[in-house]
Amino acid sequence: MIVEDDKVLRGRVALVTGAGRGIGRAIALRLAEMGADVAINDLPTAESYALEVVEAVQSKGGQATFEPTDVCDEDAVREMIGAVERALGPISMLVNNAGITRDGMFLRMSKQDWDAVLNVNLGGAFLVSKVAARGMMKRRFGAIVNVSSVSGLRGNAGQANYAAAKAGLVGLTKSLARELAPRNIRVNAVAPGFIATEMTIGLPEAVKGAILADTPLSRPGMPSDVADAVAFLLSDAASYVTGVVLPVDGGLGM
Ligand code: NAD
Repeated sequence: MIVEDDKVLRGRVALVTGAGRGIGRAIALRLAEMGADVAINDLPTAESYALEVVEAVQSKGGQATFEPTDVCDEDAVREMIGAVERALGPISMLVNNAGITRDGMFLRMSKQDWDAVLNVNLGGAFLVSKVAARGMMKRRFGAIVNVSSVSGLRGNAGQANYAAAKAGLVGLTKSLARELAPRNIRVNAVAPGFIATEMTIGLPEAVKGAILADTPLSRPGMPSDVADAVAFLLSDAASYVTGVVLPVDGGLGM
């Protein structure tokens, strides 16, 4: 009898940014179910719930650490990558998931809100990828997934900063896919639609209703829906897939 091993990521180490809750948390747990050891990054202020994710990963049999680091702080990012590799081993999977919104109509958007969103969503992915890719390049093995958004593909009124950052992630993804392919490192993105998390819970009911009316599958996505797509892109099942942006949006972006 052939028994398929579902722990296909056993022995591999993942770093997931912004993994204290929401989509990042679901990704961390999915990777742990597949046998990976997982470093949970989030802001220091997220410690109470990020430690719960660490315990949940451990309960699935994986090793886990909490890395309280702002992904915008270059020195701290360098220290974080070193700490993860000392604790868990070489990072071969990176998920740039940390993100924020500061929504507002363009003419009223402050430079501060523009900078904050670009710095975390796009700048953070640049910094963490740059440090983590160094080791992957030496070892000639790795996979990176950036969490973009349907807003980055279609634009969204009231989200000029966020849509620009998420569109920027698409360009970053494709450029890194080309640069790193010779070192056997794949770089892909997912573009979630409307996913039920803390980020979207506060949206006005009318806005949620309008998004759902535009979503062919007529339901919000769950963090686990995104986690499954990310896990696929990180796994060897996607070993000939690089430079793609996979929508996980119930058809919203069609
Ligand atoms: P969330 O707000 O629940 O989680 C985001 C996490 O990132 C939080 O735990 C937060 O503390 C962390 N974070 C924020 N700034 C950080 C920083 N500077 N350094 C480290 N961590 C930081 O949001 P979510 O819905 O789980 O979103 C996760 C990702 O998915 C984001 O990139 C978001 O833009 C993207 N996304 C979400 C949706 C959605 O509908 N929820 C849709 C498309 C894309």
